Amino acid sequence: MTTPLSSEKANHARYVILGAGPAGLTMAKMLADRGIEEVILLEASDKVGGKCLSSEIGDHIVEFGTCYAIWSHKYILKQMKKLGIKRNFLRAQRIDDRELMDYIRDGSGPFFLWQVFKYLRLRGRLMSRAESNDPEVNATLAQPASDWLRANNLGKIENMMHRVVTSIGYGYLNRLPLIHAFRWVDFNMMVTGLLKFTVMPDGGWQHFWNRFAEGLDIRLKQGATRIHRDSAGVRVVTADGAEFSGDQLINTIPMDAFCKLTDPSDAETRIAESIDWGGYTTSLLSVANWPHDVPVNAWSDTCATDANDGQILFSRFECDDEDKRQLFTVGQLSSAYGLDELTELALFSAQERGAADPRLVQQIVWSYMPTYKADAVRDGLIAAMAEMQGENRTFHSGASFSHEAVSTISSFNAQLLAKVAP
Ligand SMILES: Cc1cc2nc3c(=O)[nH]c(=O)nc-3n(C[C@H](O)[C@H](O)[C@H](O)COP(=O)(O)OP(=O)(O)OC[C@H]3O[C@@H](n4cnc5c(N)ncnc54)[C@H](O)[C@@H]3O)c2cc1C
Repeated sequence: MTTPLSSEKANHARYVILGAGPAGLTMAKMLADRGIEEVILLEASDKVGGKCLSSEIGDHIVEFGTCYAIWSHKYILKQMKKLGIKRNFLRAQRIDDRELMDYIRDGSGPFFLWQVFKYLRLRGRLMSRAESNDPEVNATLAQPASDWLRANNLGKIENMMHRVVTSIGYGYLNRLPLIHAFRWVDFNMMVTGLLKFTVMPDGGWQHFWNRFAEGLDIRLKQGATRIHRDSAGVRVVTADGAEFSGDQLINTIPMDAFCKLTDPSDAETRIAESIDWGGYTTSLLSVANWPHDVPVNAWSDTCATDANDGQILFSRFECDDEDKRQLFTVGQLSSAYGLDELTELALFSAQERGAADPRLVQQIVWSYMPTYKADAVRDGLIAAMAEMQGENRTFHSGASFSHEAVSTISSFNAQLLAKVAP
């Protein structure tokens, strides 16, 4: 995977990228596709791909992190094709073991297609002005998503978001500022729903990222511990004392962690203070029996607007284990609980939903879903995030600058590229 530069230049490049997760990797690849190969990626862990964990059980792969690509993942789907990686389609998905469309139709207001057009029109207008720092737009984007949906009589879109926003861990609509729902639920999301286009890369996401990273200059186990930026350039010191330098820095790690490594600018400190990180736990359960006849099922009561963290949001059937018990993955919003409580809640919640004798097999807790504080959005956070790009020789990307999905991250990078390498 690592192709070092010539020895005397080995630790110097035009661009130093912090983090070899989806944001760092896609930015490095986009730069390489522009003919810019003087790029070093510094990665703290011993693997690429960031929040992706593909665990092999026999010939089946369980994804504990990144799972799906949808119609919005255009860049990633193109790369899968280029790499000759097959896409496996996720078959039916349901909510309360019912067709999702039936659940959506139960929502209030006029018929669904009309609501889709109205939603996309209003969203388009607001998002085109998201960076304008207009107080009225800021206030709208700061309000809880459900307040805005209800004020606009979009009850069916609200029901749709129970599945496509809350059940996949993006937060409860009565707490989530509208900007987050808008970033994720766009035209491409509607197309995904219509075409039922949800895929997973054959061999798993870790395999995809390993292949994607081929040819990039990635230094694994080189977590940045100190960053200096001045008129001469950028210098990054890593845990083992190695030093890397460059003309520009591209940061893809969370801003609160970044600020601890450097003398942050006022704008960087402001962003770090404006973001809450939710917790998300993925657990693999073994059950004697759980009669679901579709691979993925979510529950309306745990995804509803006023539900509590900790209950399971969805279940995905994986495969049978060697004792002929069934393996299911479940997900929980988890920032309010400790590990033991989460396990208890997962087992209890599964049992309540018909799982016979559930047992925990494997569990991982992620720091997941950067959520902007409503007050910060109202005070012009979105405009500030756009304005700060390039200051102090630094560009910022990653989940907290777009949305916690590989699709939005790569689309964001495609736009940022015009500023990074004009
Ligand atoms: C359970 C779960 C399910 C998900 N499902 C999907 C899905 O179905 N589809 C989808 O598109 N997205 C999904 N996501 C979201 C997706 O995984 C993230 O949005 C994406 O990984 C974020 O990429 P990133 O590069 O911004 O950050 P990360 O993935 O967090 O990568 C950051 C990288 O920086 C490294 N790093 C941290 N500190 C340092 C340092 N000091 N120096 C050097 N390196 C450092 C980290 O080790 C990491 O590799 C899911 C996430 C989770 C947790």
